[in-house]
Amino acid sequence: MVRLLTLATGLALLLSPAAAQDALDAQIAAELAALRASYEHLHRHPELSYQENQTAAYLAGELRRLGFAVSENVGNYGVPGRNAYGVVGVLRNGAGPTVLLRTDLDALPVEEKTGLPYASRVRALLDGSEVPVMHACGHDMHMTAWLGAARMLVRLRDRWQGTLVMIGQPAEERGAGARALLRDGLYTRFPRPDAVVALHVSADLPAGKIGYREGYALASADSVDITVFGSGGHGAYPHRTKDPIVIAAQLVLALQTIVSREIAPLEPAVVTVGSFHAGTKHNIIPDQAHLQLTVRAYKPEVREQILTAIRRLARGVALAAGIPEDRLPRVVHSEEESTPATHNDPALTERLAGALKLALGETNVVRTEPVMGAEDFSRYGLEQPPVPICMLWLGAADPQRLEAARAAGTTLPGLHSAEFAPLVEPVIQTGVKALTTAALELFKK
Ligand SMILES: [Zn+2]
Ligand SMILES: [Zn+2]
Repeated sequence: MVRLLTLATGLALLLSPAAAQDALDAQIAAELAALRASYEHLHRHPELSYQENQTAAYLAGELRRLGFAVSENVGNYGVPGRNAYGVVGVLRNGAGPTVLLRTDLDALPVEEKTGLPYASRVRALLDGSEVPVMHACGHDMHMTAWLGAARMLVRLRDRWQGTLVMIGQPAEERGAGARALLRDGLYTRFPRPDAVVALHVSADLPAGKIGYREGYALASADSVDITVFGSGGHGAYPHRTKDPIVIAAQLVLALQTIVSREIAPLEPAVVTVGSFHAGTKHNIIPDQAHLQLTVRAYKPEVREQILTAIRRLARGVALAAGIPEDRLPRVVHSEEESTPATHNDPALTERLAGALKLALGETNVVRTEPVMGAEDFSRYGLEQPPVPICMLWLGAADPQRLEAARAAGTTLPGLHSAEFAPLVEPVIQTGVKALTTAALELFKK
């Protein structure tokens, strides 16, 4: 009898999660057309970082309709006159953990070339000049999955207890939004989370799959500007000048030795010179050259080592060329636009991976390699005392096109590409299910 009872209880436990999965799938399927409409709306109306006014208002309206207590214009950039368009929605549903789900809001100055019927034709002002705008990083898909999860969790409120905090973060692409929200009291004015979860689309992962990586998953990113000073003159009389183009060119090559000769071979690191500008005409040696660098690493000490080496090499190469002490290169590193590495809390990540495997199927939840891209999502885990965070990858590629590209030895258009186009419905479905499942798991005691 006892054995029979145990067996029956065991069966009930085995069956009820499956039944619950079917119920969730049905709920998501019923919302799919509406969510697709939201996605197309957001995709058609992208807004640049620091300008996410309408996007924030749209999300705030949706949360209000669902019964969340919503705050708008959350965030402080520490820059006079710069408004922040952060959205925070709080839903209290009894005693229990506080779970925070984050989406980003902003788009990029990219001219869309997908040819989709809902492609963006938006143009906006960036630093005074008009630029095209596109959701080329998939933040529109993040918002759609986030809205879907909010709807599901409201409907399923008898299945969980606790406090749900939904945040819409501006200016992710500037590495500035998370800091602005935290500076404005995200963890003090609003319920402090026990865990923070977000999704980011992946162009390398097929639709229907979720990727996870415990520990370091995304790198730190730092921007460095270098001005090399020389003394200009006629291109036919180089011996009477100090040519900043030649000095800067030597510096570009010297910078390559930081990763190859100074950083330990087992430490991931990147130094890329993404921009090199100097001169106006064939026969004039200019008096300045400008370099713009991005620096990527995982460990703070490696990042520090690279930044120090850049300064040393800039100085040394200029000295070797005979530049006087008072004309040495100016190296500017913006602390405000730097992003720390994203460290996914290992226990939280493993816990979510386990729950997602049950919900989506073992083979649809895959452990992925870390990447050298960066995300200011990292900052939600760096406040004291620490809050565990986890960013999951949301597969966005058409599986057949991905397979064909792999067979041909090519790649599909990636994030920030003018042709980046996630498959829509299966990605929404998986995104909503993953975020909802993650939250339900974390509300368990
Ligand atoms: Zn991006
Ligand atoms: Zn992004």
